[in-house]
Amino acid sequence: MTPRSWDSIQMLAVSLYPEPAVPKPLIRYMSREAARRGIQVSWKVQDKFTCLDRDRLATHEEARGVFNSCWIRHRCNSIKDGRFYCCTRPQYVQKFAPVPEWFCEDGVEVHDEDTGSLALRIQAHLRGTEPLRSCYLCQGGDAPLETQRQLHPREVAAKRERLVTLAAAVQ
Ligand code: SF4
Repeated sequence: MTPRSWDSIQMLAVSLYPEPAVPKPLIRYMSREAARRGIQVSWKVQDKFTCLDRDRLATHEEARGVFNSCWIRHRCNSIKDGRFYCCTRPQYVQKFAPVPEWFCEDGVEVHDEDTGSLALRIQAHLRGTEPLRSCYLCQGGDAPLETQRQLHPREVAAKRERLVTLAAAVQ
C-alpha cells in the first residue's frame, strides 16, 4: 500500500491463511503503519472456509431462501472487470460457465458517466429480493465450515467438473 492509501483508510482487515502465511516482517510493517495513523487493524485467522459449492442445482425456492438469508451479499461487495457485485461468487462461477456472461449479469456495469443513475442501480442491486443466477450454485453464508487443507488433484478435478456441469445447467 502506498502512503496515500494508508492515509485514506480508517480500518484494515487482514486475513491470515495457514498457507501461504503472511510474512512476519510484513505483519510488523502493517502494525507499525497502522499504529502511526491510529488505524484499527482486525487480524482474522482463516483456518476454516465456508464451503459454498453445491452438489446439485438449487430449486428456485432453495435459491431464494439462500439468497435472502445470505450475509455474504451484505459484506463482500466487490468490483471486477467493470462490474459491481454484491458478493464474489458470480466472478468465481464465470470461470466454469460455458457462457460467462450469464453470471456477469449478476452484477451491475459501473462505467456510467451518470453517477446518480449508477448509484441508484447499485442500490437496487443491493436491495434486490430475487436470487442471483449464481445462487443456484451456492450454499450461501450459512454453508458448513470446512478446515483449510490442500486438496488432492483428483478432488480438484472432481470439483471443477461438478461446477462446469452445474454452471452449464443454469439458464
Ligand atoms: S451467490 Fe451465494 S454468496 Fe452470493 S448472494 Fe447468492 S447465496 Fe449469497
